[in-house]
Amino acid sequence: MHLFTVVFLVALALTTSMRLWLARRHVLHVAARRNAVPAEFVGRISLEAHRKAADYTAAKTRVGASETLVSVVVLLGFTLGGGLELITEAWGRILHPGGYPHGIALIATVVLVSGLVELPFNLYRTFVIETRFGFNRMSLKLFLMDLAKLIAIGALVGLPFVFCILWLMEKMGEFWWLYVWLAWAAFNVVVLVAYPTLIAPLFNKFSPLENGDLRSRIEALLAKCGFRSRGLFVMDNSRRSSHGNAYFTGFGAAKRIVLFDTLISRLAPPEVEAVLAHELGHFSRRHVWKRMMLLFAASLALLWTLGWLIDQDWFYASLGVRSPSTAVALLLFIMVTPLFTFFVQPLASLYSRVHEFEADAYAARHADAQSLAQALVKLYRDNASTLTPDPLHSAFYDSHPPAVLRIARLEAQQH
Ligand SMILES: [Zn+2]
Repeated sequence: MHLFTVVFLVALALTTSMRLWLARRHVLHVAARRNAVPAEFVGRISLEAHRKAADYTAAKTRVGASETLVSVVVLLGFTLGGGLELITEAWGRILHPGGYPHGIALIATVVLVSGLVELPFNLYRTFVIETRFGFNRMSLKLFLMDLAKLIAIGALVGLPFVFCILWLMEKMGEFWWLYVWLAWAAFNVVVLVAYPTLIAPLFNKFSPLENGDLRSRIEALLAKCGFRSRGLFVMDNSRRSSHGNAYFTGFGAAKRIVLFDTLISRLAPPEVEAVLAHELGHFSRRHVWKRMMLLFAASLALLWTLGWLIDQDWFYASLGVRSPSTAVALLLFIMVTPLFTFFVQPLASLYSRVHEFEADAYAARHADAQSLAQALVKLYRDNASTLTPDPLHSAFYDSHPPAVLRIARLEAQQH
């Protein structure tokens, strides 16, 4: 057995058991606190809502754990089980092995198979869990239409991009990874610019926010923060789900502010204003840029690693592949990397939570901290987010600080 086969199996066993252990801790922690609303929230969140959040959290965590187990089987099937080798050989009967069409067909097949494996989980999440807890508003028809659009966009945008990457990998000599990195970075920036005006409207309607109390409040807030945007839009999220949110898209001159209709219908205007002030905080502290720069730096390091691995025979042999090719190297790398980057997850989550606190502090300065605290309580209640996450699970995965901490800080910051 190759040394790297052992490394791969050990990493797979470690990440899987860690994921399952965290999920189990989380479910048990939440269940043990199911029958009492935390002291800070008594009178603000009912016992019934608190129990619903506990059950919703448990249901989502359980399905996540099953998906983890299935993904282990799929990963082993593709690699040591000989799946990649099998697909390579099958396409090799029709297309010239090692050519671009062969490489693209191989990658597309793997993406499709992985998507098919995920599909039942997505169906279960939407039509069983979200429906049971009263969040789903999507018909099967809309689900399938979304899926068809995603596949069409994937084919239209993804296939030419894959071709471009494979071409760079083969034609650019020793430093191909640098060119692939530049292409990858450019692709990300283009998607960021094109998303609000070209992609998002395929899935949702965006209408300008109507004149009224809310609009004048938001305009006053934007003027106070010195923020110029290309429009204030309401998105019809209620077609799919009753979860509420607000976000910014695009950058530079193409910036847009998007409020979910489900958010506006539930929060009072001062609360929406405070939520938006939080989003402006992310913008003013350049969180999106910081995160993107970090991501670009990490992908450069990863591509450099692939530049070395691609020439090592053991990399293919130790992962069940007998016929190396550029496409197979790329696939193996994409499949195996998460096993090693998993342990960086707590740092990424911590970084994100620091940003959330910064955005909250900004909102407390430019809007009303008490309104943001109230909005958060409502959002936690209406989205059935648990108030009592397992601390270790939360430290590992959560992009947002636990509700108790966030609200305590906001209430200390109000003036
Ligand atoms: Zn935030």
